[in-house]
Amino acid sequence: MSTALFPIAVNAANGCQDAPVLRERGQHEVFCGLTGIIWLHRKIQDAFFLVVGSRTCAHLIQSAAGVMIFAEPRFATAIIDERDLAGLADANAELDRVVNQLLARRPEIKLLFLVGSCPSEVIKLDLSRAASRLSAQHSPSVRVLNYSGSGIETTFTQGEDACLASMVPELPVAPADSAQELLVVGTLADVVEDQFIRLFKAMGMGQVRFFPPRRASDQAPVGPHTRLLLAQPFLADTARALQARGAQLLSAPFPLGIEGTRAWLHAAASAFGVPEALFEAAIAAPTARAGAALARAKLHLEGKSIFFFPDSQLEIPLARFLSRELGMRLLEVGTPYLHRQHMAHELAMLPEGTFLSEGQHVENQLDRCRAAHPDMVVCGLGLANPLESEGMTTKWSIELVFTPIQGFDQAGDLAELFTRPLVRRLRLAA
Ligand code: SF4
Repeated sequence: MSTALFPIAVNAANGCQDAPVLRERGQHEVFCGLTGIIWLHRKIQDAFFLVVGSRTCAHLIQSAAGVMIFAEPRFATAIIDERDLAGLADANAELDRVVNQLLARRPEIKLLFLVGSCPSEVIKLDLSRAASRLSAQHSPSVRVLNYSGSGIETTFTQGEDACLASMVPELPVAPADSAQELLVVGTLADVVEDQFIRLFKAMGMGQVRFFPPRRASDQAPVGPHTRLLLAQPFLADTARALQARGAQLLSAPFPLGIEGTRAWLHAAASAFGVPEALFEAAIAAPTARAGAALARAKLHLEGKSIFFFPDSQLEIPLARFLSRELGMRLLEVGTPYLHRQHMAHELAMLPEGTFLSEGQHVENQLDRCRAAHPDMVVCGLGLANPLESEGMTTKWSIELVFTPIQGFDQAGDLAELFTRPLVRRLRLAA
């Protein structure tokens, strides 16, 4: 890596690249992978997610996504009932019936995901065979894929990883003589995607595609000329599947805050030979806007301490942003899984001595959190209310996945997600 091209890493020295990590195993408090449906169904606009699960799964999705009154939802649950669980009904025949009904009623569906759950795994319902059978029946108008959103030993963002990984084998092979193309991988809000498209265009890069696509039929060809840029830090299986198809991973931090966005864009610009002057000109105005927004947020956040429970897998990039650009003090940065290769730049940019933990033993971590007296705690919904009742200020980590936070123009909004709870508590205390 050239120091001229990547000044951020030079400032960071080695950060936490080789830092010790506390590995914990025990009870953990996370949502399951079904949660990913909430943002995935908004992104792929002609896809439908059929959870094959229990009433509990249906309640989770319904309450997390909210009830849609005016639009026909693009997700549902095929409930496995007592007769299925007791082996009295032919679950495959039932599933075929439900799918046939659904597709007859909703001809706009082009891609159907059968999403596995704890109950479908308990009765060993083979959803991959069901998906092949139904795909053969309904192709070419509908493709049927499957993945598991089961909650056992996972965290909620793994649902997106499993979903995207299931789509990779379907992507066409890029011709051997095709030009180099950038594939941005990970769900981004459309508004963020449009901003990145404009920035890449301003740098003279037209060969950019996004995965997942907005339309199921927009399938990016993949091959050795594909340059893969991860927009989300929780896509280990998807990245592995794309690399197995020849795509080359561009090493970069994640596009959170000014530094992260700049370095992320720069990784792509370098790979495509964009001249430095053109790169700087393209990002100058949005960088200045983001700088002004962050200066306002820094007044509230500088010097405040923060403690991350492991939940979304965004914890390390967020901690890097909050410490380096807003002056927050990191007491503990917990992550469900630490992928050292994908996190290499992020770890290098964390302040030396940051306490890192991987996995969870929730009781031990709660003890450490209480002893540390943080000004703010980032955690899952299950921990937030109890901690608030103990007088702590919390931020729901899931909100950071639902909200558009990537890119220069969202840096201020991202900072505001952290200032708001602090300001609210100050008002309550006044
Ligand atoms: S944890 Fe299992 S049973 Fe509960 S909602 Fe998730 S998939 Fe369904």
